[in-house]
Amino acid sequence: MIEDIEPNLCRMEIPLPKSPLKWLNSYVVRSRHRFLIVDTGFNQDECQNEMNVNLQKLGVDLNKADIFVTHFHVDHIGLAGTLATENSKVYLNESETRQMNSLRDNWVGHWQRLLDVYVANGFPAEEARISMENHPAHKFGLKREVAFSIVKDGDIIEIGDFHFQCVSTPGHSPGHMCLYEPNKKILIAGDHILSDITPNIAYWLEMDDPLNEYLTNLEKVQALEVKIALPGHRRLIHDLPKRIRELQEHHRDRLNEVLIALRDGPKTTLQIAPKITWDIAFKCWEEFPPTQKWFAFGETLAHLRFLENKGKVRREIEDDKISYYLA
Ligand SMILES: [Zn+2]
Repeated sequence: MIEDIEPNLCRMEIPLPKSPLKWLNSYVVRSRHRFLIVDTGFNQDECQNEMNVNLQKLGVDLNKADIFVTHFHVDHIGLAGTLATENSKVYLNESETRQMNSLRDNWVGHWQRLLDVYVANGFPAEEARISMENHPAHKFGLKREVAFSIVKDGDIIEIGDFHFQCVSTPGHSPGHMCLYEPNKKILIAGDHILSDITPNIAYWLEMDDPLNEYLTNLEKVQALEVKIALPGHRRLIHDLPKRIRELQEHHRDRLNEVLIALRDGPKTTLQIAPKITWDIAFKCWEEFPPTQKWFAFGETLAHLRFLENKGKVRREIEDDKISYYLA
């Protein structure tokens, strides 16, 4: 499906089968000589077929196309290696380019370190193994190595009469990057801000306090004048300040739920996570599929880290198991 947004800017809806995200919004910007594709979909047949059909309808010549990846999650970067030609630039932020390179060299070691943190926080080892095996990152990544063109905060990408500023917005991922067009007041938001669902703020080995960075970067984007925000999933956002206030409130509520969960005594992350309100189509924690448990668990860890850095909770380690207390 293709939707025109502005002259020379359109949205392609790329299905994400079996993902609660439902679809990815990929955007195409065109000038007389060149195309820019923002985000791509899983490296998987369903995504690739829909992408090919859409690009053909739009008359996109991949030999004249560059690709901007808002962040390195596989629903955004997956097809970049398939679409890029030798004439394409594939833009990605600096920290995730570095991580893509080190992940390539030590994929197993990286995931094992992450798994160790989850298990130390109470996630059952066997479920952790299953969650990891089913994690989209293991199935739908780049089909080949890509030489990324690094973009930094404030860099400009020009295409036709679009002058996009790169706006660094870590939080959802370690180096997440939005694109802002100040004259047209358009923000390509990636997964920094979504409409019907809240972006997952997870625990990352590479980030000290992802939620703090996320909330700081919500304020950064709040300061921009935006007529329409184009998110990585679901519907377009016409009232960005309102959506940002809702997201801020959502995290305040979730932080409160964590504190309330600790009122009657210390708990592991696994004991706290089921007490949080999750916006998911399952009745209780036990019914969550392993991958959704993994995401919810990571989100709980990120909130605990934020509260710990604010001095509201403290952790204690006993027999390699981590418990949290109200400070
Ligand atoms: Zn996404």
